[in-house]
Order: sequence, then C-alpha cells, then structure tokens
Amino acid sequence: MEKLPENRIGEKVCAGGLSPKIIDRVPKKFIERYIRSINVHSPSFEKWILEGGEPFIGMISRLELGQWQLDQALKAGAKLEDKEEVRSVDLSKKQSKPEKAKNRGITN
Ligand SMILES: Cc1cc2nc3c(=O)[nH]c(=O)nc-3n(C[C@H](O)[C@H](O)[C@H](O)COP(=O)(O)OP(=O)(O)OC[C@H]3O[C@@H](n4cnc5c(N)ncnc54)[C@H](O)[C@@H]3O)c2cc1C
Repeated sequence: MEKLPENRIGEKVCAGGLSPKIIDRVPKKFIERYIRSINVHSPSFEKWILEGGEPFIGMISRLELGQWQLDQALKAGAKLEDKEEVRSVDLSKKQSKPEKAKNRGITN
C-alpha cells in the first residue's frame, strides 16, 4: 500500500547515493556517476569528510531506482495498491490489514 500514485513511487527526499554495501545489488545502468568523497554534516554542526581514494559511492536517480524496485516487487508477486494511505495498523491481531484513509489518495 502506497500513498503516492504508481508513477511517483521512489520519489523521495534522498541524495541518491549508494554505499559500497549496496552498490552491487543495483543494475549498473542506474548509476549516473561515481564520487570519491562526501561531506557529512551532523545536526550538532560537526562535519566529517569521508574519502575512499577510489570512487566508492554511486549516484542514482531515486525515482528511477524506486520504479525498478516496484517492478521487481510486482514480478515477484507483490500486489500494489497505490494512492492509498495507511492510517493505522492493529498489531494486536495475528494477521491484520492496514486501515486505509478514506478519500485521501494523492492524485497530483
Ligand atoms: C536529505 C536526505 C538525504 C538522503 N540521502 C541518502 C543517500 O544519499 N543515500 C542513502 O542511502 N540514503 C539517503 N537518505 C536516507 C534514505 O532516503 C532513507 O533511509 C530511505 O528513504 C528510507 O527508506 P524507506 O523505504 O524505509 O522509507 P521512505 O523512503 O520514507 O519510504 C516510505 C514510503 O512509504 C510511503 N508512505 C509513507 N507513509 C505512508 C502511509 N501512511 N500510507 C501509505 N504510504 C505511505 C511514502 O510515500 C514512501 O514511498 C537520505 C535522507 C534524507 C532525508
């Protein structure tokens, strides 16, 4: 269940950087460029520079990755209910269905 319409799944606040742990699990065609260092700024104004010598972070379009992930999930048998917002989940039952919001699907 996803509140966004199908063609916007994957669109999210994200810089689109793939770390070395995950980079081999994504098709190479999605990697637009590689970078060799990143600056990390913490909420307490600390700053780190992470450098790997060789380029070690792959940059992707988060929307393209999300659309590919969706395709993989659908091919594996997942059923998509897009434009549906989950309002609550009852964890007290063994198998519970999420409660949908009424008429709250995002259409833009
Ligand atoms: C500024 C910023 C930059 C970042 N840059 C990077 C980066 O470069 N590399 C990296 O690896 N990570 C990065 N991250 C972290 C990364 O974006 C998150 O860790 C990741 O998106 C979490 O994935 P998720 O699928 O768990 O949740 P989300 O990405 O939050 O996805 C949740 C999905 O559920 C949907 N949804 C939410 N609420 C409901 C509801 N009630 N009903 C139905 N659907 C709902 C949303 O529409 C969304 O599609 C960044 C995060 C931020 C904020």
